[in-house]
Amino acid sequence: MARVLKSRYFKNRYFLEASIGFRPSFIWRNILHGREALKSGMLRTIGSGEQTNVWTSNWLLDDELRPPMYRQNTCGQASETICHVLFLCPTTVEAWRLARIEPPPTGFSTTSSFLNLHYLVAGTKKQSWRQSNIKSFPWIVWNLWKGRNALMFEKTRISASSMVTKALEEAEIWNKGGSSGSTSYCSKYMD
Ligand SMILES: [Zn+2]
Repeated sequence: MARVLKSRYFKNRYFLEASIGFRPSFIWRNILHGREALKSGMLRTIGSGEQTNVWTSNWLLDDELRPPMYRQNTCGQASETICHVLFLCPTTVEAWRLARIEPPPTGFSTTSSFLNLHYLVAGTKKQSWRQSNIKSFPWIVWNLWKGRNALMFEKTRISASSMVTKALEEAEIWNKGGSSGSTSYCSKYMD
């Protein structure tokens, strides 16, 4: 069983791969670090033969999993994949709307977080999106994820507007840290 779960996990590394094309920042590193930590926790739990946390392992395996036997949920919908948490949950949809970041014409993918992140990365280069908050999207993703964790583990519900406000503030602080808008993370420390 551990081997099956492990191979399924490694087939589903879209989220990790999606970040590679994007300029590295501490946001991405935090997200990826969190995923690695969760992954090692999951594998350790399975390896030791303790009862596997159904909810956690299903989340990590993400995209094409059947519904688990039980699930603590944030919105009452049947499944909570990465796509659901970051793009499809009603609170999430509201957050993207408040940030004036338009979903694709046919809606965000329900199965591929890679496609959804790719769409957002592409949006950062679109001239027609200049009035949106698209360049803050990594901070929005990060705050959606933190909001979901606050609800899961602390039973604290954070509103879409609070998450967006926080994300935009954090993005602004980050952008002010550079000598120009296009200064990369690394070059800031080379100056
Ligand atoms: Zn939901």
